[in-house]
Amino acid sequence: MSHITVRLTDQQLELVTASIGADEAPDAASLVRLALTETAEGVVRRVHPRRTGTPWRWWVDLDAPDERTLVEETVLEAGTGKAFEVSAGQVLRVEQITGDQCVDLNVFNLHDYREFMHVGRTRTLHGTNPSTGSFLWSAPPRERALMYLQTDTAGINDTLFPRCSANMYESMHGFPEHTNCADIQAEAQREYGLTPDDVHDSFNLFMATRVVDGMPEILRQSTAPGDHVELLALVDVLAVPNVCGNDIMGTSNFSLNPVRVVIETATAQEIAAVPPLRAYATQRTPADFRQPTIRTERRLAKNPDYAPAFARTPVNLVDVPVELDETDVLRLKALHDRDRYADEGDALRDVLLSWWVASHG
Ligand SMILES: [Zn+2]
Repeated sequence: MSHITVRLTDQQLELVTASIGADEAPDAASLVRLALTETAEGVVRRVHPRRTGTPWRWWVDLDAPDERTLVEETVLEAGTGKAFEVSAGQVLRVEQITGDQCVDLNVFNLHDYREFMHVGRTRTLHGTNPSTGSFLWSAPPRERALMYLQTDTAGINDTLFPRCSANMYESMHGFPEHTNCADIQAEAQREYGLTPDDVHDSFNLFMATRVVDGMPEILRQSTAPGDHVELLALVDVLAVPNVCGNDIMGTSNFSLNPVRVVIETATAQEIAAVPPLRAYATQRTPADFRQPTIRTERRLAKNPDYAPAFARTPVNLVDVPVELDETDVLRLKALHDRDRYADEGDALRDVLLSWWVASHG
């Protein structure tokens, strides 16, 4: 017998407690041994993830028609963009007219502009080049799906590159003034009182990119007239597409072309086809925090009355004693990454949590 102590944070212990509650093991030490055995023997267990939250598919109750109805149709000329109100249950369609044109997109919650599309979360969940079946998510603390990408005939959208900007063109090539996405977005968003600082990271439609040796790379594109992306709004949004101003890179094959924007009501079938989502208590707004007010004063000044109030601190550590028999000791010896962990207990914690996350995801 070998006595080993596995030190866990009380948050990690919650996972262990949940597994015990689900009858995966009678106690914490047994669960650790189970993780060790299954890891050593290559057993791949799939346990249903712990379900929290409630179904969030309120849009299925929308009174949607069987056929689409046109709400608005516009041509965005080269060098321009426009802000469109797209209600929940409506489809925003961005369509090639000549082909080969990249379009940058910003998306805000129409009723609270501080909730806006978070390209980082979207990239993490759907990859660097999201296509049909992806959602456009908002940033923490809200983290909701704002739109659903339901149609994508070209299949080249990008989350790697930021919008092009005036300074990019000046610093690279000395242009004193050049069409650029940041300024086009700012000018389009001005119709709703937003400022250049409100322009956020863009979702780049019809932009072919890839990662080579860790660096993002732009490829020439091959989109044809009629190629389109359709985004179904799940909440009321202000969507701002703009014709990318870049005519000196391959982004739009060295051209600036108009694109068509169409807004239509989605059909009942389209709304029913949106994959199910869940609503969580952790999808919050500033009203749920100690600082709910949006600043209007730009200069930052320290609050002398500030007292830190971080959740779940100080971090509480809990020792879990585990007895290993000879077989288990040999298993741990084989799994112990000594370059990373000097302590056997730390190595066993890695085994436990790697096993838990892999089997309960
Ligand atoms: Zn651009």
